[in-house]
Amino acid sequence: MAQVDDFCSGHLRSVYDIKMTGTVSREKASRFRQQLLQTERAREQQVETLLGAGTMVMGSFVTLGRKCGKPSCRCARGELHYSKFLSRSEKGRSRPVYVRSADEVDVAAKAESYRRFRQARAELMKLADQTAHLADELQQEMTEPYPPQTPRPVRSRRRKSKGEDGGSER
Ligand SMILES: [Zn+2]
Repeated sequence: MAQVDDFCSGHLRSVYDIKMTGTVSREKASRFRQQLLQTERAREQQVETLLGAGTMVMGSFVTLGRKCGKPSCRCARGELHYSKFLSRSEKGRSRPVYVRSADEVDVAAKAESYRRFRQARAELMKLADQTAHLADELQQEMTEPYPPQTPRPVRSRRRKSKGEDGGSER
């Protein structure tokens, strides 16, 4: 059974480094690291939005026109009565709830707060996907095969033709 100490020994390490540096693209890896950091900063901003949210009401604040039903009313001729509603969807159908005019300003602000909260949450989901994707990309760039596939013999260098040398490192 192999000893753990052997695995960590500096000697073995350096041998592998020499053999396989060429398979790792440092340039790509550093780009993915930068993108990961950017994604993380974007995440922080969205979390700030969640933390800063005040009181909310669920639904979107909308203006809807409707007819009152009296045949003699102007709404029967197309001039609808407009009022404010809080519209929320229940089981795929939108259900507007009437908002009293005294409550309009307050409800509008709280519905806006809710809208921003949900938007930040959606952004966080996207960014989480992005983070996982970037982690996969970085992993791919930073992973070397084990056991190593045909270590490149030093002699092959005398061939100057490009493209045969892996070319992943610039
Ligand atoms: Zn009417």
